[in-house]
Amino acid sequence: MTASPMVSTYSMWALFRNCRKAVDWRYLQQLVPLQRDRNLHFGSIIHECLQAWHQRRDLDEVLAIASHLCANRLQDENQRRDWHLATAMMRAYAARYAMDDFEVIALEKNFEAPIVNPATGAASRSFVLAGKVDGIVRIGGEHFILEHKTAGQVDGDYLEKLWTDFQITIYAHYIEQTMGIPITGILYNVLMKAKLQQGKGETEEQFQARRTELLAKSKTGKTTAKRKLPESDEEFQQRLAEKYADPETFHREMLYLSRDRFDVLRAELWELTQAFLEAKRRGIFYQNTAFCFNYQRPCQYFALCRSNGNPNVIENFYQRVPPNEELRAVPNESTEPAF
Ligand code: SF4
Repeated sequence: MTASPMVSTYSMWALFRNCRKAVDWRYLQQLVPLQRDRNLHFGSIIHECLQAWHQRRDLDEVLAIASHLCANRLQDENQRRDWHLATAMMRAYAARYAMDDFEVIALEKNFEAPIVNPATGAASRSFVLAGKVDGIVRIGGEHFILEHKTAGQVDGDYLEKLWTDFQITIYAHYIEQTMGIPITGILYNVLMKAKLQQGKGETEEQFQARRTELLAKSKTGKTTAKRKLPESDEEFQQRLAEKYADPETFHREMLYLSRDRFDVLRAELWELTQAFLEAKRRGIFYQNTAFCFNYQRPCQYFALCRSNGNPNVIENFYQRVPPNEELRAVPNESTEPAF
């Protein structure tokens, strides 16, 4: 009896290209850190909110989703931060895009199809490629993949780099194949993440220290300084709303697909499958240490690699979670692998 093909995603192949060892940790040994990146949490919230918005355009429902996904916000500071940001972002988004110039054909659309050897046209017996796109929309009779992105800054550099988003290009190819819809391009729906923080206020000690400093500088020996109180939720929402009134906090960019790029990516994907099979056969997944700090922070497997896979490190800092979570839950905000 032959084993069924392994379900792979483009995230896995992109990671394999960057560091084979990271693929071993995640996809073969199924390890993830106990402490997950909080960006993933925020990305999940926004994707769920956007999906609901584009389905029914009911802002109350969308805000209720954000509240539900941050149910511990009174106790958990990270959840409170995510809730504030998601609430302000979605309120402003609903106002900005009260009307859209596209028709939604599908949302959160999954696909699964063979990876094909471009030289022979034969399907791989070892792997299928699975993925999920945020949406498919129709604009003036043509179909586009809708791709949501959140970003710290949306400027020329950011937009310039969108063409390197190969994942969505190859997903477009697979959507064409599995749904029989010709895809003209990608509509990037970019939402800027405001960097504002809710004011914490001053402790009595901090206030006294500041007051003493001001008195020392004062020519009259007096000061009208008052203790700074924590910013209320309403005040912070107001400040966020002012920030999101800036039209530059949202951006939509349309990119047309290049058919040549499909061919290059399909060939590359096939090459990666062959390299993976060879690594597995030999039991050797090389570490690419040049990649450990690629995103200005350590790779999530840094502790594992540094300790050479010490079982105590695994026991205390990692858990086993089946791969391809993005196919089950909503996807994260980033195309960056493993970090
Ligand atoms: S820590 Fe470095 S070598 Fe280890 S998996 Fe991550 S990128 Fe690869």
